Amino acid sequence: MIELDIRTLSLITMLFCFIFFLGLLIYANYNKRFSGLKSISYGNLSLFLGFLFLGLRGIVPDFLSIILANFLIACAFFLFNYGTSLFLRIYFRFLWLNILGLVGVFISFLYFTYSHPQVNMRIIIINTFLLIESLLVSVSFLRQSSKQYKSQNLFGFWGFFLYFFFCLFRIIQTIGEGSISNFLEAGFIHGLAFIFMQLLIINTTFSVVWIANSVLNHDLETQANLDPLTKILNRRAFLDELNKELARSRRDQLTFSLIMADIDFFKSVNDNYGHLAGDSVLISFTRTVTENLRLNDVFSRYGGEEFMILLPNTNKKNAFETAERIRKIVEMNKHPFNGKIINFTVSFGVTSYDIDAQNKGELLENVDLALYEAKNNGRNRVEIK
Ligand code: GH3
Ligand code: MG
Ligand code: MG
Repeated sequence: MIELDIRTLSLITMLFCFIFFLGLLIYANYNKRFSGLKSISYGNLSLFLGFLFLGLRGIVPDFLSIILANFLIACAFFLFNYGTSLFLRIYFRFLWLNILGLVGVFISFLYFTYSHPQVNMRIIIINTFLLIESLLVSVSFLRQSSKQYKSQNLFGFWGFFLYFFFCLFRIIQTIGEGSISNFLEAGFIHGLAFIFMQLLIINTTFSVVWIANSVLNHDLETQANLDPLTKILNRRAFLDELNKELARSRRDQLTFSLIMADIDFFKSVNDNYGHLAGDSVLISFTRTVTENLRLNDVFSRYGGEEFMILLPNTNKKNAFETAERIRKIVEMNKHPFNGKIINFTVSFGVTSYDIDAQNKGELLENVDLALYEAKNNGRNRVEIK
């Protein structure tokens, strides 16, 4: 059987706890938007202190090396549970039961250390508490994995689920003392406990940092695709969507339409009412259009006061009707700004993907020409190309 040196393992486990406590605390301070990371980090600190006192057995009083040590380890698992719930934005249930459990561990350790000293009972009690907490954390990760970041959450799940099994094994082995410990000597199981603990600490920190990183990445992607003022897609994201739609329409032999919209005399809105008024007109127009599109239509801010709409599976006639409907609504709208009413109109160009225009360049040119015609023919109108 492999020899596991308990002192070395204990020292390495303590080092892990301390490094991950410090690392996660610094990470949490840099990423304040994530709640729960600090609790998990303090969980690592609590484990570090717990193992430190555990290692001082015989040197310091039993109260510190047995009772406080195990209580700190229990606190660490409570903090892992509490922290992951906060971090994963899962409502933390049973707070009072958790605290009651911690008090229970403390009191029963007092009892089984001083009144009726029983090592087996202490092992069973602490492992029952750790088993319940591990199961709760693994369930939190599992529930979250069905919603988002599956691999990341499953990673977290497996760490705690394996630890749950280890606790179960320790409880069963302690109850059946003698029979199992014949083939698994006490020193080996003790060593195994340290190894499982190390795996858990690494796994927990790695999972939460991986999840946090994925959230940040996702935000970055979203920000890169959205226009900051109107919160709709920007030109870059629109062109991506156009490429996808072109490929889809070619493959499935479908049609789609483009509408380009440009606010009329927008410069004079800025000049007469100020830049902020101009901005609010852009936002108001965005809202009107969004309310009048289907869910799978793609709407984007293509330039300053130019907008582009992609209507999948829509022919020229229907696209014209959509543009005409929006044009009329905008024309009727009275836009209030700082106690004044701003009236504005919009010109539209419409074109479709068909036999005459089958590539991106032609489509964009046609829709631009149509819009140009609408401007030339007096504005506040829809033209088709
Ligand atoms: P036309 O009817 O021919 O389209 O006339 P126009 O005045 O709308 O067209 P022009 O292209 O001359 O002016 C566009 C203006 O849009 C100029 C620019 O200052 C303004 N603009 C561009 N982006 C923004 C923005 O984000 N906010 C505001 N307030 N104005 C913007
Ligand atoms: Mg304009
Ligand atoms: Mg313009």
